[in-house]
Amino acid sequence: MADNQDNIILEVKDLKLYFPIYRGLIQRVVGRVKAVDGVSFFLREREVLGLVGESGCGKTTVGRTVLRLYDPTAGEIRYHSSSGEWIDIARISQRDMKPLRREMRMIFQDPFSSLNPRLTVKDIISEPLEIHGVARGRAAEQRVAELMEAVGLNPALMRRYPHEFSGGQRQRIGLARTLSLNPRLLIADEPVSALDVSVQAQVLNLLQELQQRLGLTLIFIAHDLSVVEHISDRIAVMYVGKIVEMAETEEVLRHPLHPYTEALVSAIPPADPDIRLERIPLRGEVPSPANPPSGCIFHPRCNYARDICSHQEPPLTEHQNGHYVACHFASELKLRGIGD
Ligand code: SF4
Repeated sequence: MADNQDNIILEVKDLKLYFPIYRGLIQRVVGRVKAVDGVSFFLREREVLGLVGESGCGKTTVGRTVLRLYDPTAGEIRYHSSSGEWIDIARISQRDMKPLRREMRMIFQDPFSSLNPRLTVKDIISEPLEIHGVARGRAAEQRVAELMEAVGLNPALMRRYPHEFSGGQRQRIGLARTLSLNPRLLIADEPVSALDVSVQAQVLNLLQELQQRLGLTLIFIAHDLSVVEHISDRIAVMYVGKIVEMAETEEVLRHPLHPYTEALVSAIPPADPDIRLERIPLRGEVPSPANPPSGCIFHPRCNYARDICSHQEPPLTEHQNGHYVACHFASELKLRGIGD
């Protein structure tokens, strides 16, 4: 999928993660939840890829599998490490994964449960430094102070506990901990969705500023296009374990080629409150990944579905210049984007 390998840092090919469904006394496997089902994408260095879709579409599972917090069922996760080696993360042992965990880190969704309430902020932020043998004692404390300043927290508060901070400040503490080992690749899993709307923009701006200043590569996972549109260079839209569209942000927003993306774009609140855009409703529920629809997985909810859609799956193919879409009729549908 990646045309030029020069500045590619991550290439995921046909990634699958199926969770077994057990039933009965002897816990027989009676089915599989296809949480991730043939996902392919690439990431350039210093790029921000927004991974978007409704709850349960598999986006968080993709993020966790890329970091080998889950073992994939199939597929490749090729990572270009800082030592210049290409490593297939899907196939290495957890032991070989350990040094890579310094350069690939996750920002968690919930700043309340992701911080240990019994540790001070200093201990929370310095813990990765000690685990990886990077710094201890005074050197670690110095690094904690630098990191707190970098995320807009007063280092004088490092001996306080998480409960003494607001939600936005806790997410900043989590960010400082994530940055402590100078990572190259961050996976931010809905980093602002648990925060008050009033502080979401502050944390998003901080993340964007740090990404640019530190030259980080970022996968930004969100259920809402309006959250990722400002920070992402490209956007990949997921639906029931698959990527259905992927392109540069402007292209996805202005010229969506998949009917599901068109509906998500129509739900973005307009910048000008006097402009009333017609929202395209999504009928029905998101299907279960344990029993996904045949053919195109979106066909039961698609306003443009035809006969072929219910029995033939459209592959994700490049429609034009880096714009990928999985729809039989992408070339002929006239879908509405922002500004239409
Ligand atoms: Fe809709 Fe058919 Fe395209 Fe699927 S392939 S998105 S059902 S038109």
